[in-house]
Amino acid sequence: MLVMKFGGTSLADRERIDTVVALVRGRLARRPVVVCSAHAGVTDLLLEGAHRAAAGAPDLTEIREREHALLASLKLKPSLVADDLERLDQMFRGLALLGELTPRSLDQVAAFGERMSVKAIAAVLRRRRIPATAVDADEAGLVTDGRFGRATPRPEAYRNLERSLAKVKGVPVVTGFIGRDAEGNVTTLGRSGSDYTATIIGRALGVEEVEIWTDVSGVLTADPRIVSEARPVEHLTYAEASELAYYGAKVIHPSTIQPAVERGIPVRILNTMDPDAPGTVIAPPRRGKRARVTSIASKRGIHLVNIVSGRMLGQSGFMARVFDAFKSHDVIVDLIATSEVSVTVSVDNTAGLAAVVQELKAFSKVTVKDGAALVAVIGERMKRASGLAGRVFSAIGEAGVPVLAISYGATKTNLQIVVPEPREREVVRALHAVLFDGV
Ligand code: ADP
Ligand code: ASP
Ligand code: MG
Repeated sequence: MLVMKFGGTSLADRERIDTVVALVRGRLARRPVVVCSAHAGVTDLLLEGAHRAAAGAPDLTEIREREHALLASLKLKPSLVADDLERLDQMFRGLALLGELTPRSLDQVAAFGERMSVKAIAAVLRRRRIPATAVDADEAGLVTDGRFGRATPRPEAYRNLERSLAKVKGVPVVTGFIGRDAEGNVTTLGRSGSDYTATIIGRALGVEEVEIWTDVSGVLTADPRIVSEARPVEHLTYAEASELAYYGAKVIHPSTIQPAVERGIPVRILNTMDPDAPGTVIAPPRRGKRARVTSIASKRGIHLVNIVSGRMLGQSGFMARVFDAFKSHDVIVDLIATSEVSVTVSVDNTAGLAAVVQELKAFSKVTVKDGAALVAVIGERMKRASGLAGRVFSAIGEAGVPVLAISYGATKTNLQIVVPEPREREVVRALHAVLFDGV
C-alpha cells in the first residue's frame, strides 16, 4: 500500500487535477490511499471569512464562487458541495450573531476546505473510471487531543483509521488537516497539517511509502523564495528532515516525520508539475557518500529571552526552575545558550510568554528582545566537516551581521544562529553560497 498526499497547489485547477488523476491511475496496483489538502488559497479564504463574520460581515460569496468555478471546470455539479456550503453559511451567521471567534470555531470553519476538496477529487476519479470514495478523517476515527489549531493524534487514532479505511470501497480520498477530539469537536493539526495526516495514515496502515506531492522537486538546499539557486536534496535522514521542518522549511509540516519513523516508512517529496523528477527521499541513513550539510532553514518572528540568575540558586536548581516555568505555560523553546549564571532561550510564539516572564522574575532578571530570526544549518554528518563553523561565522562576519545567539546541539545535527530579523535573507544567501556553491 501507498499514501499519496496532494497539497493545495497540486489541486488548484483542472490541469493539476488531471495530473493527479494520471498519477493515481499509474499507482493503482500499489493500492493507494489519497490524502488531499484544500484547493490552494481556500483555507486562507475560510479563515479570513470567519474573522469577517465575527466582525459582523458574514459573506460566503468568494468561497462559493471559487468552489463552484473549480467544480464547473471539472464538469462536476455544484450540488456536490451544497451541504458543506450551507453549513458554512449557518456557521458564518452564527459567528456574526455571537460577535466572537474561538479557536474551536476557527478549526470547525477551516475544516470545510478539505471536506469540499475530497468530494471533488473522489468524484473526478470516479468519472475517469477509478472507483473512489471521499472520507472525512474525523469521521474515520482520527481522534486527537483538544488543542485547537495544533492538535496531535491520540494513540487509538491509528487503530480506528486502519479499521475504517479497510471498509472503504475503491481508492479512499481522505481529508488532510482535520481530526476530532474526545468530546467530538473538530480540530486541525496546524497549517500544512495534511502532510501530518499523510504519515498518520501511513503508520496506521503500515504502507510501503508515503508520497508528498507538492510544487517543488523535493526538499531543496534552502527556501527557493530566498535562494533562487537552491537545489533538490536527494536523501535526508528522518532527523534532518524533522529539524528542517521544525526550523522553518515550509515544505513539510513539523510533525510529519514522527509517525513515519515509528514504522520506518520512507517519505518521498515529489513535484506534481514535474512528476518524473526524482525528488527527495526521507529515510534511515544510507551507506556511502552523503552530504555533510544538507540544507539551511530559517524562521522569523523569534523572541530572545535572557534570564540571569539571582545567584541564590545553584546552577542545576536555576536551570530546573527556568525550564519548569516554560513548561508550566506550554511555551516551546527552540534554542538554548547557557553560561555560568545566565541562560538565553529563543521562542517563536508570544502566547504564554508574559506569564513565563512573570514567573521567572521571581528568582531572576529577565529581558525579552524581539525582531530576531533563527537560521539553522542542518546535516547529521556536519560534525565530520572540519572548519565548518569557521566558514559559517566568517561568512556572517563578512556580511557585517551581528550574531545574537548561537547553539550547536549535542547531536550536532543542527547549528543554530540568531540574527536580526531584517538580515535573515542576507544571512541565508551568504551561508548557501559558502556551503553549497561549487560543492
Ligand atoms: P503544498 O501546498 O503542496 O503543501 P507548501 O506551499 O505547503 O505546498 O510547501 C511547498 C513550498 O515550500 C515550496 O513552494 C517552497 O516555496 C517552500 N519551501 C520553503 N523551504 C523549502 C525547502 N527547503 N525546500 C523546498 N521547498 C521549500
Ligand atoms: N489546507 C491546510 C492549510 O492550508 C492544510 C494543508 O494544506 O496541509 O494549511
Ligand atoms: Mg504544505
